[in-house]
Amino acid sequence: MEHQDQVLHYPDPRLRRKAEPVEEITPEIQARVRAMFPLMYEERGIGLAAPQLGWNVRLFVVNISGEPGDEFALINPELVEEGGGTWVLEEGCLSLPGIHGKVKRNKRIVMRGYDLDGNEIEIEADGMVARCMLHEFDHLDGILFIDRLSPVKKQSIKRKLRTLEEEFATASA
Ligand SMILES: [Zn+2]
Repeated sequence: MEHQDQVLHYPDPRLRRKAEPVEEITPEIQARVRAMFPLMYEERGIGLAAPQLGWNVRLFVVNISGEPGDEFALINPELVEEGGGTWVLEEGCLSLPGIHGKVKRNKRIVMRGYDLDGNEIEIEADGMVARCMLHEFDHLDGILFIDRLSPVKKQSIKRKLRTLEEEFATASA
């Protein structure tokens, strides 16, 4: 089975693929997406994109508070609007354990896509929710937050990236 219940770590090449749109929201897909939430909570994440599990489809889940009722999934998301100025905040990623860095993103966004029941939805978000959605949206195009760091910051995390690269080489050997 292509899907695996384990978050891939940098530099796994599967994190760099452009994900494919979901053609039909089948019960199998619904079950897989629902299984992403407990995995995300277990890993103490606030968002998780399918490509992080080696599942090459355009969808992600988010719950920035971790509270029941705040969770949502967005399938085949499109970024419809982006604005509200920019802000900078430190980000991390379950695929880059131990690495953090400041990323500049737009404050307000509108994304359109489908929920788990196949209904078309439009989500207007700002602040942390918008940031998290943009971060997850990036994963669908193989973009990681480290790609958006300043050159100075990129330099300063080189050693940590090297460690992850060595771990990956050992794990896949
Ligand atoms: Zn991430």
